[in-house]
Amino acid sequence: MDKKICIIVGHGKSKSGGYDSGAVSRDGRYHEFRIAKEIAKYAADYLGCSLMNYDGDLYLTDRIKAVNAADYDFVAEIHLNAGGGKGTEVFYYNGSPTGLKTATAIAEEISSELNVRNRGAKVRLNDNGRDYFAIIRDTKPTAILVETVFIDNDEELSVIKTADGQKRCGEAIGRALEKSLGTAKAETGFRVKINAKSLYIRSGAGTGYKSVGIVKNGETHSISATDAAGAWGRLADGRGWISLNSKYIGRL
Ligand SMILES: [Zn+2]
Repeated sequence: MDKKICIIVGHGKSKSGGYDSGAVSRDGRYHEFRIAKEIAKYAADYLGCSLMNYDGDLYLTDRIKAVNAADYDFVAEIHLNAGGGKGTEVFYYNGSPTGLKTATAIAEEISSELNVRNRGAKVRLNDNGRDYFAIIRDTKPTAILVETVFIDNDEELSVIKTADGQKRCGEAIGRALEKSLGTAKAETGFRVKINAKSLYIRSGAGTGYKSVGIVKNGETHSISATDAAGAWGRLADGRGWISLNSKYIGRL
């Protein structure tokens, strides 16, 4: 099923309009927002889906408004945890089967990819019995909140502070959503030949994503996955996405 997904970065802008770092590492050098935005970007790039609040320009209530003004089927906000624990956990809307399924899948995938404890899928409620997190409670689409790892755990920080760790975490989230939401097209692993003079490689599946390079006439490339519509293909070399329009490419 073709689902419209949006990956959201947690924190970045405070209620008063200033900078909101979110949680910080024990030495104060690493900020939750700055790490979460890179993880979120890798997840969105992997899925070829929307990415919100990368620049930290939206306060929580702005993010909720932006979600509700769009027509997403599913949103996931990315955070890092703090408070002396360890491992990964994912919160979902109380009673949502899709929430439980996706939250369980993400916690499992992050746990195995980064070799951290799996704290599992969780529900957190207010005293009045409603969901605690506003991004989960007040958004129309199914929403989850991913507490990737603990920023105040030095072992987990040593991995997640690196670009490699952020990429592995983001792609683990992408894989888990692809599987649990069924967004992956069964068709994977084919080759194409470029017939256009040149073709932009984009950071996601659509012309709205920024160009990150080009492929040229006569080149052949492996495609590792397509978007749900089969209109865009992800280059197996990891550089990004190209259009699969038959005006520009031929399948081999
Ligand atoms: Zn947070």
